Amino acid sequence: MEIKQSTLYVVATPIGNLEDITYRAVQVLKDVDIIVCEDTRVSGILLERYGIPKKIMIAHYKQREAETIAPVLNYLREGKSIALISDAGTPGISDPGHFLVSEVVRAGFPVEPVPGPSAATALLSVSHIPNTHFYFEGFLPHKKGRQTRLRYLSGLDCGVVFYESTHRILKFLDELKEHFGEREILIGRELTKMHETLFRGTVSEAVRYFGEHSTKGEFVIYIHGKTGS
Ligand code: SAM
Repeated sequence: MEIKQSTLYVVATPIGNLEDITYRAVQVLKDVDIIVCEDTRVSGILLERYGIPKKIMIAHYKQREAETIAPVLNYLREGKSIALISDAGTPGISDPGHFLVSEVVRAGFPVEPVPGPSAATALLSVSHIPNTHFYFEGFLPHKKGRQTRLRYLSGLDCGVVFYESTHRILKFLDELKEHFGEREILIGRELTKMHETLFRGTVSEAVRYFGEHSTKGEFVIYIHGKTGS
């Protein structure tokens, strides 16, 4: 595979199990001149696992998204090839990336996807709840607007995908019960990792289950739409 000059590759990486990476993703990461990542330590583990040679790494996280635009555009103008990765999954999906991609597009450089894992599509792929149509919410706002958003989402006639952290999962399930009522729910905890759990049941059953079992780790949730999907 030939890497193109002056191109930004948006590369999906594993969401837990390091084996979940495509041949092409590894090849692109080996061959590009520069890697833009969130946390160099997190990405370092993946790069070492696949013998990806050391190269220029640019840290790109939410607080300094704007600062990375100028160096990235300068490298692209010099003809360099760049890969954008996040700590896990697909960049730009509840992760930094969208701003950089839009600025690179605006500057007239090509942006190419190197698709792979995402927690949302991993969960949807094993869903018993209809998924012909779905709405991706990702993380809800922590405070302001959270309840308004939940009220709006509970009226949609397709299933809704949420991301939630270990700290808020119990409170979040209570909120789902209040706004969505007794619907079917699918919860993926620590997908592709050692303690992977797939919970299927009603919202009340989920509240009970996670009240009695571990809530450590990362959660992705899919809840039935108002009238099916
Ligand atoms: N870009 C990622 C993607 O494509 O899925 C999402 C990154 S976002 C910062 C991290 C959130 O995604 C976690 O808090 C959790 O809600 C969800 N997530 C990521 N990995 C997961 C996993 N292995 N199992 C369950 N949820 C996961």
